[in-house]
Amino acid sequence: MRVCVIGGGLAGLTTAYDLMNAGIEVTVHEASGRWGGKMRSSPVGDRLVDAGPDNFLARVPEGIQLCTELGLADRLTVPVSPKPAYLYIDRRLGELPKGTVLGVPTDFEALEGIISPEGIERARQDLHLPPTPLSADTTVGDYCRARLGDEVTDTLIDPMVGGINASSIETLSMADGATQLYKAAMSNRSLVTGLRETRDEIGATLGSAAQNQPVFNGLEGGMATLIAALVDALHRGGATLRLAAPLEAVPDGFDRVAIATEAHAAARIARSASADAADLIAGIRHASVAQITIEVPAGQLEPLDASGILVPRHQGFVITACTFFSTKWAQFAADDRYLIRITSGRFGDDRAISMSDDELRTTLLSEFAQIYQDPGEPLSERIVRWPDAFPQYEPGHSQRVDAIEASLAHDAPHVHVVGNSYRGIGIPATIGMARNIAQTIAS
Ligand SMILES: Cc1cc2nc3c(=O)[nH]c(=O)nc-3n(C[C@H](O)[C@H](O)[C@H](O)COP(=O)(O)OP(=O)(O)OC[C@H]3O[C@@H](n4cnc5c(N)ncnc54)[C@H](O)[C@@H]3O)c2cc1C
Repeated sequence: MRVCVIGGGLAGLTTAYDLMNAGIEVTVHEASGRWGGKMRSSPVGDRLVDAGPDNFLARVPEGIQLCTELGLADRLTVPVSPKPAYLYIDRRLGELPKGTVLGVPTDFEALEGIISPEGIERARQDLHLPPTPLSADTTVGDYCRARLGDEVTDTLIDPMVGGINASSIETLSMADGATQLYKAAMSNRSLVTGLRETRDEIGATLGSAAQNQPVFNGLEGGMATLIAALVDALHRGGATLRLAAPLEAVPDGFDRVAIATEAHAAARIARSASADAADLIAGIRHASVAQITIEVPAGQLEPLDASGILVPRHQGFVITACTFFSTKWAQFAADDRYLIRITSGRFGDDRAISMSDDELRTTLLSEFAQIYQDPGEPLSERIVRWPDAFPQYEPGHSQRVDAIEASLAHDAPHVHVVGNSYRGIGIPATIGMARNIAQTIAS
């Protein structure tokens, strides 16, 4: 069997890796001049720093498993812990309350000082309110406002849940975009009680040792290390790897084709095989993000003993989050300088992505000065733009993906789509989907 994989990001390379290991002849076409898609590093000063993801969820197995198979187990890192995240609310910083799960409180007392007494009282009503209807069309915003009120939803849940995928909770599907909350909501009339129970269940399943495991893993050398290992294994296994080789239609001459590009490119490519699938893929909307990463001399800024700061949408800033890389990761800790990534842009807010570099830089640094401290003139800096890079899982998303797969199965059964636009946005889910598609093709 001969298989063509279009797209050399994490999804494409993982699919190709499993196909190759199943003894299948595989060719990978990547449009750009380098492998990895969103997983890449570039210099800030004299250090290489992740420009896209810098960690992945460790409490699901897919990321760690693949790293281990590729011989990277001893290169897995964990954030320096325990470092809290801060929230910027009403001109001051406060610690994210302990016990929150994706911003939903499981301990109401921990909200004191961050949420008003009225807001806490309203959130407590979740324990007693009658059930709130929950379907494939329910958004995180609708459900959480009904259960916990506006203040907790806007201040805690929106920056936590929305921040993961640059989404708006008003358009994010509860079932597909916040699965942990959805499961809890399905299991109990009260979201808080449901979360307390599911959290306890996860703890019981993992065992007490596992409960103390870190939530996230990084990699020495950043996420590019995983990409380099995949590419190396593919080279050694005899796969055909083509860089700067875009494909704009499903190629002939292969038994199977896996389209592993971002959704907008996948819609163009799939059109030659199935117009219905192409239309459905094209309907997935995206958010854009822009970031500046700065290196600041130690004397110019007080270190913040936190992994970062989240800025809720209703505070009106262009900045959505700041990550203190030098506090979060041991490999970036240095006595003489701090490394900070400032992120802006989310679904429904394109102010940042439409600014010029100069305007973006001035805006983000002056907002950072208001939110935290004036960073002065950075030693070095890097601007990275991610236009239309974050697929949005809106209500009905998984039904849309089912329909995409059904259209392909009907019109072009040798064609598959894979990537983080479909069955999970993060690294572990992307790996999981890629491995499933490879298995489907191989069998
Ligand atoms: C700024 C940022 C931060 C993130 N942070 C995290 C995080 O902390 N943790 C986490 O788990 N996830 C995070 N993610 C998500 C994570 O990056 C994705 O889950 C993952 O990288 C998706 O991989 P992919 O292969 O599906 O897509 P991509 O990486 O987009 O790969 C698609 C590839 O297809 C290629 N391509 C496009 N058109 C064509 C064509 N016509 N022909 C051939 N090739 C083509 C592209 O060049 C690209 O290389 C983040 C994403 C971003 C942007």
